[in-house]
Amino acid sequence: MLNNVDTPIQTAHFLDMVRRAIGSDWVHTSATTVNRYGETTLPGADNPPPAVIYPGSVDEVVAIVIAANQTGTPIFPISNGNNISQGSRAPVGPNQVVVDLGRRMNRILDFNEDMGIVTVEPGVSYQQMHDELARRGGRFMIDVTSGPPAGSVLGNALDKGAGYTPYADHFAMTCGMEIVLGNGELLRTGDGALESARSWHMSKYSYGPYLDGLFVQSNYGIVTQAGFWLMPKPPVIRSFAFTFEEDDDVGDIVAAIRPLRMSGFVPTMMRLCNDLWLLASEGPHPNYVSGRSLTDDERRDLQRSHNIGSWTVSGAFYGGSEEAINPMIDRVRAHFAGLGRGRYISHDEAMEAPTLASAVAAYSGVPSVHEMKQLAWRPGGGMASFTPGVPMDRDLILRSSRKSREILQAHGLEYLKMYVCGPRFARGLHHLLWNRTIKDEDCAADQAYKALAAAYTEFGLQVGRSPIRYQDFHMSLLGAMTRKTCEAIKDVLDPQGIIAPGRYGIGREAIG
Ligand SMILES: Cc1cc2nc3c(=O)[nH]c(=O)nc-3n(C[C@H](O)[C@H](O)[C@H](O)COP(=O)(O)OP(=O)(O)OC[C@H]3O[C@@H](n4cnc5c(N)ncnc54)[C@H](O)[C@@H]3O)c2cc1C
Repeated sequence: MLNNVDTPIQTAHFLDMVRRAIGSDWVHTSATTVNRYGETTLPGADNPPPAVIYPGSVDEVVAIVIAANQTGTPIFPISNGNNISQGSRAPVGPNQVVVDLGRRMNRILDFNEDMGIVTVEPGVSYQQMHDELARRGGRFMIDVTSGPPAGSVLGNALDKGAGYTPYADHFAMTCGMEIVLGNGELLRTGDGALESARSWHMSKYSYGPYLDGLFVQSNYGIVTQAGFWLMPKPPVIRSFAFTFEEDDDVGDIVAAIRPLRMSGFVPTMMRLCNDLWLLASEGPHPNYVSGRSLTDDERRDLQRSHNIGSWTVSGAFYGGSEEAINPMIDRVRAHFAGLGRGRYISHDEAMEAPTLASAVAAYSGVPSVHEMKQLAWRPGGGMASFTPGVPMDRDLILRSSRKSREILQAHGLEYLKMYVCGPRFARGLHHLLWNRTIKDEDCAADQAYKALAAAYTEFGLQVGRSPIRYQDFHMSLLGAMTRKTCEAIKDVLDPQGIIAPGRYGIGREAIG
């Protein structure tokens, strides 16, 4: 492992080697560039890297990794760096040179229209992929996030990102990767290891240990391409939604969702959003006062003016025609009617309501900037995701949701929450929003995040990913054997510890 990793002399030597390998046009050190790459929306100071480099091919990535090994320089790879609310483009530790793959390696390398498979470089974005699929006649769709359309399809999958259609699990939809390991060697996973491979991006688990998973939420290598499976686009997509009045309705709603998802009757993930998740996607805080969260009365007024309740749940059906789908909508309406409360919102009504149209876009594989408006809820642009997974259990959902509201209000912040509901488990996304330019608010956001993490640990619940500044903390909550195993793998694949030391709490001793 590296010690005393970065001195200015080491970095300068590294950058000289990189300039020779990839050309000086692709090595940027200006204050404007490094400050831009160091910016985050997280609590605490930004972390500008010493330089940003832009490789244009896998050979150039190999050359960069070899130079990093020879000079002991830590590097931090990003695809498009749209990791907003988790660290954006900034490296996880000090003095890590950012390797921006997306700027030049942004090609769709192959499109197999028979099999519905694309092979992409790191810079291919959701918007680019969506537009290409439309250009080719719209036979296929890609599952998108409700985050930035400029986000990388590959970068998101490597961070265990997810969406909302039956193809929501983005890593699950990858098949076969090419990786430059931390020691500079090139690995093709799965059937790609066979010289004459014809099924690299078709046979998921292939022969021998399944290696692809090692490169997700880790720092063992730089992924330079991967295969992705595409969903055939259904002729008709119709959403449905129900809105419920009371904060405490959340437990009963989850209990109603579970059988719909377990049986597979509803094919999409079901988005269960609270009032402020939807309203903050609409416009700025109506009455922002630093250090104070909206009162319940103010929140009720907002609900009334936008015609939504405390919780709104939605999903979608796919089919050959509206006539084929309507009976399914009738069944889901009858199912929720069993709760004795809740107002039905039709697809057509949702399309007219900006608060709900983004959900319809997500179920349809259409990138949207809608939820990005949350960044402007308060001035000062602070945003952090807290992402616990919660079993689809009525009581646990109710108790943990109450706790989240209590903690955030105690820190003068609003409670924004979306449960992305699967059959047994929901990702409970919290977006903490605050004014980063006010020191007290920035501290409050940090304390609120830590209080949420402590409370959910007590519930026995762990996050699915985390902002870079909390990655080591979340790793420390797991048993020591997990970290030990991760470190042992790091020692083999990246013995100098040059790739993103400290990412997900792995290789952190390299950064002291
Ligand atoms: C309002 C809002 C809504 C959001 N909704 C969603 C959502 O619905 N679903 C969701 O998943 N996310 C969501 N996000 C989070 C985030 O914006 C996305 O995950 C975004 O797509 C990540 O950026 P990227 O794809 O450009 O990946 P990057 O930032 O490039 O990559 C993510 C991380 O993976 C690592 N990495 C990237 N590429 C490589 C590589 N080639 N080799 C090795 N390591 C690599 C890097 O360390 C990087 O930090 C949302 C964010 C906001 C602000």
